[in-house]
Amino acid sequence: MPTPFKLAPLPWDEDALAPTISANTINFHYHKHHQTYVDTLNKLVEGTPFADMKLEAIVQKTAGAQDAKEKKIFNNAAQVWNHDFYWRSLTPAKTDTSSALDSAITSAFGSKDELIAKLAEAGKEQFGSGWAWLVSKGGKLSIEKTPNAETPMAKGVNCLLTVDVWEHAYYLDYQNARPKYLEAVLGKIINWSFAAENLTKEDQAVRAAAE
Ligand code: MN
Repeated sequence: MPTPFKLAPLPWDEDALAPTISANTINFHYHKHHQTYVDTLNKLVEGTPFADMKLEAIVQKTAGAQDAKEKKIFNNAAQVWNHDFYWRSLTPAKTDTSSALDSAITSAFGSKDELIAKLAEAGKEQFGSGWAWLVSKGGKLSIEKTPNAETPMAKGVNCLLTVDVWEHAYYLDYQNARPKYLEAVLGKIINWSFAAENLTKEDQAVRAAAE
């Protein structure tokens, strides 16, 4: 991605996820929070070697940095990536898993309902700001929760979907009721086709690395 980094377009209209997530929440979350991470990242990388790197590479190179400026670069780069991934994890459309994703879900969790329950629990238990993730490692699915800007992608883990559990993601619609937000999002607006497509990306990455 050439710099300056840009705010990627939303994959749906701003009111498309209502009433699960209101247009008001999307408006603040996308145009204020997400945009600010993009703008701050551009300021921080200007004139540094990071300015010529892809977003994913910046996140992976600055993960765990001790240097104060690199920590800031990590936080903003990871939040740009996480939010773009979050928007694509959501959809107002009726979507379905693939047979490969179905088998992986059954083998790891027993059922899709059980997977949803475990994701909701991870999101609820993340203390303070963070993210709940469905990831695949060697085709085996698991759930992770990360604080603040942390992301499994920083360690090269293949992410299938994520839910933002920072208060700004739900406070206008659900106030402090994070579990209600999680239940609504996970039950109504997850893009299962996006997760299925991401599952195939791990195979491609593994094959490319082996060649
Ligand atoms: Mn957010």
